[in-house]
Amino acid sequence: MSIPKLDHFINGQIVQPSEGRYTNVINPATGEAIAEVALGNSDDLDCAVRAARSAFEDPNWRGQSPQDRAKLLYAIAGRIQENAEELIFLEVSSSGGTISRISSLDLLVIIDICQVMAELIKGYPFIQNLPPRPLPEPTHTRIIKEPIGVCGLISAWNFPLALMMLKVIPAIAAGNTVVIKPSELTPNSTLRCAELIADLLPDGVLNVVNGIGAEVGAAIGRHPGIDKISFTGSTRVGKQLMADAAQSLKRFTMELGGKSAAIVMPDADIELTAHGVLFGIMLNSGQACESGTRLLVHSDVEDQLLARIRELAAQLVIGDPLDLATSMGPMSSIEHGEKVLGYIASAREEGAEIVCGGNKVDVPGCEDGFFIEPTVITGVRNDMKVAREEIFGPVLSVISFETVEEAVTLANDSSYGLAAGVWSQDLVNAEQIALRIQAGSVWINDWHMLRTDAPFGGYKESGIGREMGVAGLEAYLETKVISTAFQRRPQQKMLYPIVHKAIA
Ligand code: NAD
Repeated sequence: MSIPKLDHFINGQIVQPSEGRYTNVINPATGEAIAEVALGNSDDLDCAVRAARSAFEDPNWRGQSPQDRAKLLYAIAGRIQENAEELIFLEVSSSGGTISRISSLDLLVIIDICQVMAELIKGYPFIQNLPPRPLPEPTHTRIIKEPIGVCGLISAWNFPLALMMLKVIPAIAAGNTVVIKPSELTPNSTLRCAELIADLLPDGVLNVVNGIGAEVGAAIGRHPGIDKISFTGSTRVGKQLMADAAQSLKRFTMELGGKSAAIVMPDADIELTAHGVLFGIMLNSGQACESGTRLLVHSDVEDQLLARIRELAAQLVIGDPLDLATSMGPMSSIEHGEKVLGYIASAREEGAEIVCGGNKVDVPGCEDGFFIEPTVITGVRNDMKVAREEIFGPVLSVISFETVEEAVTLANDSSYGLAAGVWSQDLVNAEQIALRIQAGSVWINDWHMLRTDAPFGGYKESGIGREMGVAGLEAYLETKVISTAFQRRPQQKMLYPIVHKAIA
């Protein structure tokens, strides 16, 4: 049976890769090739950047008011909603995310970011008049917020369409044009979405160039015609990309890795915490940047909490992601699955104990997928590999503590700072702890509490800048100040005598 070919989408047209090269897109649940995706190169990228530049300069796009763009964002939301079923299917079959997550979480986020950005730009002060100041002379000064230009958007495979739309929508809400590079592992939904909304936008505003990171991604970093990069992916690649882009000093938003700590206080509601901790780590089988991967639990409640977590973990359904009954789907690839098992083995070697899970699981009908049991490791020290490195799998590392001081120190003892959580019934105390944690998001008595109207991003090596909310819009705006002077006579200019000594 032939499989679809996924090309580039440039200047409103489907464009084949200039070298004619393709690679397979694999369904991680079944191991089947579901599409062939174009392997682009720097020439293909250049073609897309030129289209994006000319669309950026075209009054047809530059002349649109925020109100026009708000209408457009609502139309995009509607188009995505109408085609949700197709997009969800593409997303599940390329990423291995469960259908229940993608249909009830990702799609909502995508529609929501369109609506939130539409409302935001209707009221956003793109032009601000400063009050006049009499000295050194009366001037009129305005602060203008302008689009940056051509934005290169690179994203990861784990929540492919949602992560990409969290970039595309604010970028175009601000009036930029974009060149998108989806992950080569999961390009299907992004490319299809671009095609579905293409007629709503002038040609060249939204372009997709497919290919691998080392080729198209790196070329985005080096391209002098790209003004801003927004990247979601690993910290390692983020650092490389920044080095590549340093030459042209591009603006950056970086959404990188995490090793987020959940602190469980002795007064936590155990039933809620056990459910919430598992939700925090097992969503998408642990393949989420802000997963609660380190459980810091007070020794008074450790046994009770772990007993309940083990009972609940045994009830999670590992299976075909297309089945609504499935809680946890596959690892993104066999190699990634092996890497996760390697981390579990390292914990054993370093003296920790696997108290639950730890093994590969066979799923009927998905024999070529790589599925891993929900895994809980106790007796972890914060200097062990499983406490320091991002595992990106269904693995919870449990570290016990005695005092709040110790818990805060452990939580902050990480090169990452994406998210954290506090489980406690004393909300005042929980807030005090939250204030001391070095992380971009701190959740009290829940996990994954992302809102499209609130900024999300990381401290330390988890990123630079923020997505979503006002900060997410401003990440795609430049600031210009225009000042007009009204004094016509040079003799009346207060500061000119500093230079013009002969001025009377
Ligand atoms: P990755 O860094 O391997 O790849 C991310 C993207 O970068 C892909 O599109 C890839 O093709 C591209 N890329 C690879 N090499 C490149 C290069 N040299 N130059 C430019 N681009 C290059 O990450 P991944 O495996 O796709 O995703 C998992 C990682 O993403 C995890 O570390 C996870 O924590 C992180 N992530 C972060 C967030 C967040 O919001 N902070 C969200 C999701 C995922």
